[in-house]
Amino acid sequence: MNEPKPLIIGTAAFHSGEMGVVELPIGSLTGYQPVTINIHIRRGKRPGPVLLLTAGIHGDELIGVEILRRILQSRGFQNLRGDLIIVPVVCMPAFLNRNRYLPDRRDLNRLFPGHPDGSLGSRLAHTFLQEVVARCTHSIDFHGGAIGRPNLPQIRISPNDAEAAAMAMAFKPPVVIQTGLREGSLRHQLRNRDIPAILFEGGEALRITSDSVRYGLRGVFSVMRHLGMLPKQRKVIEPATRTVFAKSTTWVRAPQGGLMIPLIDLGKAIVPGTKLGIIADPFGRHETVIHSEYEGIIIGITREGHADEGDALFHIATTPDPQDAEAHIQRSDEILEEHTDPLG
Ligand SMILES: [Zn+2]
Repeated sequence: MNEPKPLIIGTAAFHSGEMGVVELPIGSLTGYQPVTINIHIRRGKRPGPVLLLTAGIHGDELIGVEILRRILQSRGFQNLRGDLIIVPVVCMPAFLNRNRYLPDRRDLNRLFPGHPDGSLGSRLAHTFLQEVVARCTHSIDFHGGAIGRPNLPQIRISPNDAEAAAMAMAFKPPVVIQTGLREGSLRHQLRNRDIPAILFEGGEALRITSDSVRYGLRGVFSVMRHLGMLPKQRKVIEPATRTVFAKSTTWVRAPQGGLMIPLIDLGKAIVPGTKLGIIADPFGRHETVIHSEYEGIIIGITREGHADEGDALFHIATTPDPQDAEAHIQRSDEILEEHTDPLG
């Protein structure tokens, strides 16, 4: 029988059952420091899907970096079928700057497919697609909310992608949202290449919060089982939860400037008329109660007490039966508490 093909990334070749690291050179910074992408490979002994796990496309979103760090530490891959390509920090210049964007203030996730003679970010995007994305069959990309704007753990998928929808359900997040594709994003390129892709959003920028990390870790292992990369669990612990599907989301904005006093939190159900918060004149003269016009679940919220008129305050996934969904979200949190170690 012929030896299966090695997995080649840059100048490195990995054979079945091998693991290792590749540093792909991209360019250099003002201080002459090299810019590279650090890529970790875990190859199973048997062929199967090639799952790409990425985080740090935005340099201040750390939840995914922590999730992938924990996966790199896992010893649970003796029976791995297929391969894992793990990139905890895609955009190292942004990560070092503790910033969402590249040093030239561009967003890497608007620069795909990139160009070999473009800006630093454009070169990075180009090399990443050619050397890494071209090798994978499935993808999970990790993101988080902005600074002071945490997200409920959620999976985003593109419309009309049945395989990605199945991966999203296997991930078992509280909420799955179907969203359109943005020009220049990694997800757009994955779609062009017919690679089923899901995008995780959880927590907020610059912070590592344990609930989002736990959801993410459990989700990756669960998707790997769904894809046949890991053996099915002997004792299946089926959470009595249902993932909420939402086809649209909307932001509630500050009706006027003032102090923002929230009256609701992430994961809570709302219906038309639910009090979401109060915008108050700091001098005690006026208060405006913000009532919901929608039926849904709070999936994003501002933690800031300052609000200028028009500031985004509450992100809502519109869904019928939000009360039911809230109960499921609560139940799913309890299940995570009971089974804290998805690696076990
Ligand atoms: Zn992001």
